[in-house]
Amino acid sequence: MSLGVLLVEDDKDLRATLRQVLTVEGYRVSAAASLADARALWAHASPDQGIDLVLLDLGLPDGDGTAFLKELRASTHLPLIVISARQQDGEKVHLLDLGADDYLVKPFGVGELLARMRVALRHRGRAVTAAVTHYQHDTLEVDLQRHRVCRDRAEVHLTPTEFNLLARLVRSAGQVVTHRQLLADVWGSEFTEHTHYLRLYMGQLRSKLEQDPAQPRFLLTEPGVGYRLAEAS
Ligand code: CA
Repeated sequence: MSLGVLLVEDDKDLRATLRQVLTVEGYRVSAAASLADARALWAHASPDQGIDLVLLDLGLPDGDGTAFLKELRASTHLPLIVISARQQDGEKVHLLDLGADDYLVKPFGVGELLARMRVALRHRGRAVTAAVTHYQHDTLEVDLQRHRVCRDRAEVHLTPTEFNLLARLVRSAGQVVTHRQLLADVWGSEFTEHTHYLRLYMGQLRSKLEQDPAQPRFLLTEPGVGYRLAEAS
């Protein structure tokens, strides 16, 4: 089962980038742009599709992330990594003393963030297996790490959303992924009712990747449930 990340970051571009990177790595991402959003997502996280790690910005529009760190630490020991532009040593020490597992100063490399997340999860006994990053079936080949999709060995250009949707299906190749899950993982938890997005983007993906989009061989419909990417061969 995939691990859930609560991402608290008010910078829209960084939030979108991190959501994409983490989704491609196989994490389920809930994103909050403020302390109020973060508190609401935390309060409503379900036990089975819950939050396994928190990435927390400090400078937020409705207050300081430190307040949320204190609230979380009063009730939970789950891994928490601060992501902030502030780089005074005193501030870092203070947050680590308050219970942050780690502190990454912006701008940071995505590879470093992912590595620190794996360390923090490992310290809690959560082994993070290497993510599925490659898919091949017949004429379709997907390399998530290199962001490359090929059909009949020719590279296909996908938009970021098309790529994220395909990446989510690659992570669960051979299994049905429900409409709700796809919408939550690719667009965000506030979009789970927007099934027309899925129809639109699935149509675009099929027209780019399938020989006959009306008779798909890769991107399969599970009527009334969701979609399934044919099992890798
Ligand atoms: Ca900020």
